[in-house]
Amino acid sequence: MQKRSNIRNLILYIPLLASIVLVAGLLLIPGVAKAGTINLPGSATYYSFKTFTFPYVFAETVNFNSGYVTAINRQVISDSSVSPAPVESNYNTPEPAAKPMVETKVLAKGTKNATELYIIKANKPGPVVMIVGGIHGNETAGYKAAEKFINYDIKRGTLLVIPRANQRAIENKSRMISSVGDMNRQFPASSSSLADTALTREIYKVVKDYKVDWLMDMHESLNYHKLNSNSVGQTLIYYPANSTVNTVSNILNSINKSVNYSYAKFTLLRYPAKGSLARAAGEYLGVHSFIFETCSKQTLSTRINYHVNTANMLLKSLNMN
Ligand SMILES: [Zn+2]
Repeated sequence: MQKRSNIRNLILYIPLLASIVLVAGLLLIPGVAKAGTINLPGSATYYSFKTFTFPYVFAETVNFNSGYVTAINRQVISDSSVSPAPVESNYNTPEPAAKPMVETKVLAKGTKNATELYIIKANKPGPVVMIVGGIHGNETAGYKAAEKFINYDIKRGTLLVIPRANQRAIENKSRMISSVGDMNRQFPASSSSLADTALTREIYKVVKDYKVDWLMDMHESLNYHKLNSNSVGQTLIYYPANSTVNTVSNILNSINKSVNYSYAKFTLLRYPAKGSLARAAGEYLGVHSFIFETCSKQTLSTRINYHVNTANMLLKSLNMN
């Protein structure tokens, strides 16, 4: 008798067991996770849990009645393919610091040599600094470093950036476009002469029109100057005017602290070549100007860092960052 009643009980439990198997099956499919509370046994009960089918997360509710599944309810509660809405806040957040304005201009517009100039103006007046990269198209660290300044946050003054001055040579991975010639010999070589091409004339005009105070032109060379004096790798070549030397030697002393090998230490040189942007700006426009040269024997990231750190130190010395 007892045994028969056990069997009857067991038969009564079959639908319940079937439901448990069903739920277990749902739990076993990949992506099912985080079960909620279970409310068994009882005449009407439910089981709720979350399932994931990328990119969705579902809330699932399984309703039971007397052990039978009577309803399965599935609702999307999140969709990771859609960006979450920003959380609303009712408390007052502090006003963000005013961001400098960034304006873009195209130089030598409409020509094959067209390139971009970024003009970053802080809300406070201050010095005007110009950063140029890519005058020589195969000097990768120069234009990669200059590109890092096109949205730079300055707290005063103006930052002008021409990251890819010789756009075509950069695309060609060559120092210059042979039909155009060496861009860094096309700037005025006397106070009365003009630059040689539409692009170099426009770059020079920017230096003049914006009354640039400091100019850093980013370059690279094949060998270390300390190992081969004919090469200018790891040098800073400045045009000696007023106090330029004080600032640039301070910067180099700091940079050299991070250089491990003596042959890789930066050397301070003067007189950028005639016809170079730094020379013309320094000699005829009274700009504190210099060419910064890394040595391409080092890793690209090391070279980029030297350029970026030097530009940062210059901006810092002018209280602009
Ligand atoms: Zn160069």
